[in-house]
Amino acid sequence: MSSLQVLRHSVLEQIKHACDLAHRSVDDVQLLAVSKTHPSEMLREMYTAGQRSFGENYLQEALNKIDELSDLNIEWHFIGHVQRNKTKHLAEKFAWVHGVDRLIIAERLSSQRETSQAPLNICLQVNIDHQDSKDGCMVTEVSDLVRQISQLPQLRLRGLMVIPAPNNISAFSDARILFESVKLEHAHPEDWDTLSMGMSGDMNEAIQAGSTMIRIGTALFGARDYSKL
Ligand SMILES: *Cc1c(COP(=O)(O)O)cnc(C)c1O
Repeated sequence: MSSLQVLRHSVLEQIKHACDLAHRSVDDVQLLAVSKTHPSEMLREMYTAGQRSFGENYLQEALNKIDELSDLNIEWHFIGHVQRNKTKHLAEKFAWVHGVDRLIIAERLSSQRETSQAPLNICLQVNIDHQDSKDGCMVTEVSDLVRQISQLPQLRLRGLMVIPAPNNISAFSDARILFESVKLEHAHPEDWDTLSMGMSGDMNEAIQAGSTMIRIGTALFGARDYSKL
């Protein structure tokens, strides 16, 4: 086995163990491979190991990789901060955007998504633990945003995305409660199925609290070297 295969296998084992402890089915937790800073060859190797969905944070880096790996059947997720003037590329090139936290961003993504494409999957990012300098809408805005964004034609609003401060475990259960409580605001509640939370350092706690998609970088690819960007 290649070293990336070994790392992926060990993360999948960890997911399985966490699911067993939480009495959840392993099929209910998706592994998103967060590949920012890592070169395309590493993504290709991870793809060969069986990984299909990849998350990127930086638009230009992501666009280069999408181009270089266009022969593979990758599901691309954008998990970085969404800038208003960059929505067109996101609408065109990605299957999912996790960092939506304002109506205007969602409106732009919907109008820029081609009708020939499948609707763009969206997670609403919430600042669940009230951090200061942080992306994400306020908890009090969530139900209005769910109602409004779920009506946009070229989007599928799938759920919530949170990045709590390290060691703030209770934020995960707060997110789960919020996720369940706003479902009835959704214009198509059957689309509301994704709770994107948990990273390398806290995936067990996130799965325990009900995460359906963990975003894992370091545990899959090793440490990141930002100097090479
Ligand atoms: C980088 C990043 C991750 C992955 O973090 P690791 O600790 O390396 O697993 C997950 N989510 C977001 C939003 C990120 O920016």
